[in-house]
Amino acid sequence: MHVTSTVSSEERKGADVVVVPVWYDKKQAVLACKGKEFQALVEFPLHSGDFHGKEGETLLLYRGGSKEKRVLLVGLGGTGSCLPDSLRRAYAAAVKALRAKKIKSAHFLFPSMELMSREVICKAVIEGVLLSNYAFDALKGESERATTIDKVCFCGLDKEENSLLKRAQTVVQSVHFVRDLVSRNADDVNSETLVKIAKDLAKEHAQIKATILDKKHLEKEKLGLILAVGQGAELSPVLILLEYKGDPRSKEVTALVGKGITYDTGGLNIKTSGMETMKCDMAGSAAVLGTLQAAAELKLKKNLLCVLAVAENAIGPKSYKPGDVFRSYCGKTVEISNTDAEGRLVLADALSYIQKNHAPDRIIDLATLTGGIVVAIGEEATGLFCNDEELCLALEKAGERTHERVWRMPLYPEYKELLKSSIADIKNSGARKASPCQGAIFLSEFIGKKMPWAHLDIAGTAYLSELKGYHPTYATGVGVRLLIDFLEHLDDGK
Ligand SMILES: [Zn+2]
Repeated sequence: MHVTSTVSSEERKGADVVVVPVWYDKKQAVLACKGKEFQALVEFPLHSGDFHGKEGETLLLYRGGSKEKRVLLVGLGGTGSCLPDSLRRAYAAAVKALRAKKIKSAHFLFPSMELMSREVICKAVIEGVLLSNYAFDALKGESERATTIDKVCFCGLDKEENSLLKRAQTVVQSVHFVRDLVSRNADDVNSETLVKIAKDLAKEHAQIKATILDKKHLEKEKLGLILAVGQGAELSPVLILLEYKGDPRSKEVTALVGKGITYDTGGLNIKTSGMETMKCDMAGSAAVLGTLQAAAELKLKKNLLCVLAVAENAIGPKSYKPGDVFRSYCGKTVEISNTDAEGRLVLADALSYIQKNHAPDRIIDLATLTGGIVVAIGEEATGLFCNDEELCLALEKAGERTHERVWRMPLYPEYKELLKSSIADIKNSGARKASPCQGAIFLSEFIGKKMPWAHLDIAGTAYLSELKGYHPTYATGVGVRLLIDFLEHLDDGK
């Protein structure tokens, strides 16, 4: 996708279509952008009642002798109820309508309104267009590939607003990188692939240093849990550490830790409810990689420690067994009550390892951890478990700004009762109740008392069964926009 901008809408050159925003009004829809150019053209459809301007409603019109032969009206809903995400969704609906017509180049005009700042409007419109102009079709035949708009031009951006466009492009590119990574075949995105991507990132950016803890290292350092989870697979588990020094003058480091189960069969407690989406079980690791990539491209002045806990939970004669007990890196022993609760095991060792060897200032982990979080809050929000009020609030605010919303769940100490083991210090899974809280409380057992920590359960938000707004079917790339926004606002109020 080739993306450009013009300072004013008059300066735009030729394209297949111009997208014109329209407000919904009870009596009659009204143009949402300035300029008289479209007034006469849209008068009849607006008057006739054929088009109301409801959010996401579109109408394609034709005209002769102009910069564009087509005009696509897109409804934004009412001015009073319009939120940034309404804009993202409405412009995504416009992109969908254009893609259905196989349109190759498009101009996008911005709405003007008093209730929202120009910056918020620009960001939302740009994100709506760029996030939705995506298809994962690498596994389809040439003739079946989805159409995307080749040339996108945003009309009416001044110099400062143009920097918002550049930032959004960088972030969305990383979101698309994550979507591709999660949607590709599990055999293609295995531990070796992730190691190669990590090494390539370090090669590309001088501020990134990669350290790979392969099987030998993991054995030497006694990361018993990640080794246990990965012992049934042909490819060995690996812990990937990527240090990003965006602010060499500061010692402050934020650790981002991702669950990287490249395929989850459930292990010997094999999944009974189907596993065709389980290549997505490395979405946490992919989001961490995407965030690092975006941070480096944006030259973000923050220090990061990005950690990928990678293993395949496979079934075979060497698989780890229910009922067995393994010793974790920090020394705690864990009874395996369910081999399908493997994400918390690889994360536990990763969390202990970085606290002992790197001592970051805060830790955020991302994991497609539990089906229970999908039952509890669906695909509309990521489950947030947090032991620190400031960190919690900062993530919630970032979630509101990006609409990658997080919803706080309880971390009551009583949940530990559910994980009591008679043979080890703790077991990895209890009975059915409060399963997302069980996962989080298990992880909390591997977090030091004073360490600010947040656990994001992205099982509901990382992978969709059908297209939704500006998200495609399959991987959404959730986490990248949230974390970049969080990091950008880290010093707010300091
Ligand atoms: Zn599992």
